[in-house]
Amino acid sequence: MTQDLTNTGFPNSTDQETRRVHVREVGPRDGFQNEPETISTDDKVRLINSLGRAGFKRIEVASFVRPDVIPQLSDGVEVLHRIDVPADVERMVLIPNSKGLDNALKERAYFEDATLFVSASQTHNKRNINRTVEETMADVAAMGPRIVAEDLKFCAVIATSFGCPFEGKVEMDRVLDLAEQFAEAGATEIGFGDTTGMCNPAYSSRFFAAAVQRLPGIEVTAHFHNTRGQGLANAYAALEAGCTSFESSFGELGGCPVPAGSTGNIATEDLVSMFHEMGVDTGLDLGRIIESAREAQSVLGRKLTSHSIIAGPVLWSQAV
Ligand code: ZN
Repeated sequence: MTQDLTNTGFPNSTDQETRRVHVREVGPRDGFQNEPETISTDDKVRLINSLGRAGFKRIEVASFVRPDVIPQLSDGVEVLHRIDVPADVERMVLIPNSKGLDNALKERAYFEDATLFVSASQTHNKRNINRTVEETMADVAAMGPRIVAEDLKFCAVIATSFGCPFEGKVEMDRVLDLAEQFAEAGATEIGFGDTTGMCNPAYSSRFFAAAVQRLPGIEVTAHFHNTRGQGLANAYAALEAGCTSFESSFGELGGCPVPAGSTGNIATEDLVSMFHEMGVDTGLDLGRIIESAREAQSVLGRKLTSHSIIAGPVLWSQAV
């Protein structure tokens, strides 16, 4: 990914040039993993295929974490084999460690993007993957060249970038230092996760302005949770600070299982609705995203909480 989308004249743009952003759908991994129900393989395949027709260029579709740790995603390989998305949709998989990478590379033909992750806070990383941050980053340094050699896109996610449920405040410099380590290992995209919804719009603005400046040539991605109701405001602040890449989950599915009970990716349909109303182009078909979210609702057999599922989209832009 290049920086072409950051050259659109903002922050503080006053021209009428259409602003463009990328929105990546992470529901089939981040969402399905963290819902209490186990979703059947048939339903996963159908929902991913439906999302593939909504215009996403990248969808996170599977994970190579151990099946005994995340049983909801134990059918990841079958999902990869069976989904049928347009050729220009990059299929993204989450990889926890070198063993996971070994397993993923056996399926090399079935995905284009590999995501590695760490938590910025030591306690969260230990609870999540039972390793220290330093151990994880040593593994990242070993995995990075293997991913690059396979001609895969190497993406990174830094969880608890905006606060940790166990340690509280996480220093910006610590997070951006980890981001630079990922970049040195070969990552071309780095996402910052607000894993338990601790960011606020003022901090989002400062953080993303600094991240874009410190990571030249890297696609900087915002991954907000709506745990405390500030997800869309944080996304707007990130946009105005120069971030043009976002992750979200259709139907507001998922969130993070640590600590227990924590939920809340921002809903893709709400994020996309906000962008479209502001005149920011996503290249996405909002109606189809809402259809997919409603389908997920019927698969799960309960109401989902995104606003756009309930209210429907606003069909005009009030941008100018
Ligand atoms: Zn998330």
